[in-house]
Amino acid sequence: MFDKILIANRGEIALRVIRACREMGIASVAVHSTADADAMHVRMADESVCIGPAPSSASYLSMPAIISACEITGAQAIHPGYGFLSENAAFVQMVEDHGITFIGPRAEHIRIMGDKITAKDTMKALGVPCVPGSDGGVGDVDQARKVAAEIGYPVIIKATAGGGGRGMKVAQDDKALEVAFRTARAEAKAAFGNPDVYIEKYLQKPRHIEIQVFGDGKGRAVHLGERDCSLQRRHQKVLEEAPGPVITAEERARIGKICADAVAKIGYSGAGTIEFLYEDGEFYFIEMNTRLQVEHPVTEAIFGVDLVRQQILVASGAAMEFRQEDLSIRGHSIEVRINAEKVPGFSPCPGRITQYHAPGGLGVRMDSALYDGYSIPPYYDSLIGKLIVHGRDRAEALARLDRALGELIVDGIDTTVPLFTALLKEPDILAGNYSIHWLERWLDRKFG
Ligand code: ADP
Repeated sequence: MFDKILIANRGEIALRVIRACREMGIASVAVHSTADADAMHVRMADESVCIGPAPSSASYLSMPAIISACEITGAQAIHPGYGFLSENAAFVQMVEDHGITFIGPRAEHIRIMGDKITAKDTMKALGVPCVPGSDGGVGDVDQARKVAAEIGYPVIIKATAGGGGRGMKVAQDDKALEVAFRTARAEAKAAFGNPDVYIEKYLQKPRHIEIQVFGDGKGRAVHLGERDCSLQRRHQKVLEEAPGPVITAEERARIGKICADAVAKIGYSGAGTIEFLYEDGEFYFIEMNTRLQVEHPVTEAIFGVDLVRQQILVASGAAMEFRQEDLSIRGHSIEVRINAEKVPGFSPCPGRITQYHAPGGLGVRMDSALYDGYSIPPYYDSLIGKLIVHGRDRAEALARLDRALGELIVDGIDTTVPLFTALLKEPDILAGNYSIHWLERWLDRKFG
């Protein structure tokens, strides 16, 4: 086992990893930018290293600075968290070339899944059901027209290098296709430096269902059921729950096995998430994330496992602590993402926290790096906390969420808390009756 792990991240996820390290008797090293000198992850880690100025390009994304911090502190492994360098195959390669262990999958698997066309081809070959669409990339408008005619409108044009919901354009008909195609390519080029796009059938009312998988890197893998992440704004998740309100035990077992078998076959190591759109009882693969997800705690809650601990164990060469038959679901869990944003425009509003009080009690988990008097720097993601509740069933989890939101105090800035308080009054939310379009339509109706 490692003696010391460096966490190449900040905020709540850095705390999450530090906590797992501490429980395993492993020393932790925080890295931080100059803007984060007072951040909670720096205070909580055993050691810390300043790796550069405020912009993440010069600090949290600086590969040489992070490797140097490892060498200075003698950390034997790096946990990347999510975002930043967590899905950067070149970084993984560099880490390994320096004799440091990357806590995550092999560079090769990150590379395959990082390119969505290659990911889709690979998954298809492994027997995973995919959204109907172009086989590979689409180079020009004529080819795009041909594909669209074959699969039928509406279609969605997506960047192969895509992420964070960028570089996606929907075309309702042949007339709209050319503009959508050109815009998607331009956006993809600007955002990712790669203009390549592909086309998929645009599903009308799907749910976003993702399967948590975990591999030991030696050909064994399990699945930990699904999360329903359909409540999205601009393709960004705002609330996640597990198990999915409409997924049956049979569906879970079927798609779970397909996913576990697929990652076992490629010798995948560590945590991964296979994302699907789900409509009328069918699952359609959209992408795989080769890291720990923001919403992993809802899975931890219902399975009673510590996914970060398993990541560390597997990366160190030890075995996973469970087999598929050891994993069973208990109750229901919901997570809401608390962002420093003003509803309904969702404009970021960093600033100083004048008062912070975290909710507690049975079945409540608050993952946050906030504290009284903390100043949220304007340079990074606006996620400032995740409130996760667990109940015996969905109704209890919803009641608990409402109760916990009432206890939470974040004063001094605007947050997305009022959004969740309002959502908990909506019959559709209470009934679990929503698709990926529900939230945008509700926001339009409510705020115009
Ligand atoms: P990103 O990597 O940018 O997050 P994804 O491929 O995961 O992109 O898609 C993000 C979201 O976009 C999905 O959760 C869904 O809401 C929407 N989406 C993607 N593909 C389709 C599709 N074929 N039909 C309908 N909606 C889609």
